[in-house]
Amino acid sequence: MPGTELFGQEERKEINDVLETGILFRYNHDQQRNGIWKAREFEAEVAKITGARYAHAMSSGSTAIATALAAAGIGTGDEVIVPPFTYIATVEAVFFVGAKPVFAEIDETLCLSADGIRKVLTPNTKGICLVHMCGGMADMDAIMQVVNEHNLILVEDAGQAFAASYKGTYTGLFGKAGSYSFDFFKIATAGEGGVLVTNDEAVYKHADSYSDHGHDHIGTNRGMEQHPILGFNYRISELHAAVGLAQTRRVPHIVAANRKNKQLLTSLLSQTEGISFARLADPDGDSATFLNMFLPDTETAGRVVAEMNAAGVGGFNYWYVNMYHFINQWDHIKEMRTASKLPAQVLGLPQDYANLDLPKTQEVIGRLISFGIRCTWTEEEISTLAAKVSACVQKAMATSTVA
Ligand SMILES: *Cc1c(COP(=O)(O)O)cnc(C)c1O
Repeated sequence: MPGTELFGQEERKEINDVLETGILFRYNHDQQRNGIWKAREFEAEVAKITGARYAHAMSSGSTAIATALAAAGIGTGDEVIVPPFTYIATVEAVFFVGAKPVFAEIDETLCLSADGIRKVLTPNTKGICLVHMCGGMADMDAIMQVVNEHNLILVEDAGQAFAASYKGTYTGLFGKAGSYSFDFFKIATAGEGGVLVTNDEAVYKHADSYSDHGHDHIGTNRGMEQHPILGFNYRISELHAAVGLAQTRRVPHIVAANRKNKQLLTSLLSQTEGISFARLADPDGDSATFLNMFLPDTETAGRVVAEMNAAGVGGFNYWYVNMYHFINQWDHIKEMRTASKLPAQVLGLPQDYANLDLPKTQEVIGRLISFGIRCTWTEEEISTLAAKVSACVQKAMATSTVA
């Protein structure tokens, strides 16, 4: 969690710039703000790292992905393919723009697979909300082939894959629009925040208006602006943008440190029988926020988790039983418990969410244990962690052989 690991002078300086003027709003007030435009600078920094033509900062990764879907033209009744392993915001966003999530299989990249997508295509499929999970990236060549063959709208939730790339193109920039999260648990944080990226001017203009009550942001008099479309308030504040700016400037350093630390942990763990790793579609584009370890099967993984808990090993996620990231725990979706009626409930659900058949996903997530990489780790800390994990895996594997 580098966002929470590195916080200091640089963040305070950017926040203080805003406090000096007291202009916490990202638009207008040109006279009083004394040249301080933190949201704009934050956006420019994200564009610099990713090469995006347009970057638009917003209140969260959740509002950024919802806006990306809407700006890409996805709306009421559209079927959108989503993964069953993601932060739940992806699925919520599809529902709340009025569309219908259709769950498809992931593979060892931890992301939707082209085969999985093909199996759930129907004449009503409008698009895919692809999620790049755990710092890595989906197999983009294969996925773009399906997207192009079937003329689908691709939107990327790169909430946890900022600064990850595939063959030189950054996540978020393969389809119509993409989004990054800068919440407290990502590679860089704004406290709360998100950034939408796109190379498409029309999509950017829609996103810019959609996220601020439809304003076109032309001129200096907010009250006299035109409203090309209906919108809502998903704005970021200047204070959050100031933190996001300082943090984003740290990202090249964080990625380099993450990669070095992940490489050492990987090489130490790979000597233990029973351990393998998730497939990176492009190892050179890894943002290295997680080391994703596979055990031979779900039963062994469960025993490793029990051993690690008993040994006091922290800093790992066993997503198979995690309430936020895996469909097995999403009872509110299975039972469609909502505060008020959603379009998908009125129009008819595309799948029986309580009885989905996703054997590949169950197998992959059952075997997966992820370690959050820390950019501030020392080599000694990494060696100690690797030794503890290896011992736990060896114990669990021995039990498995006896059984
Ligand atoms: C964190 C995350 C989000 C949500 O971002 P927030 O900023 O917390 O709203 C969405 N999608 C994915 C894949 C995430 O990891």
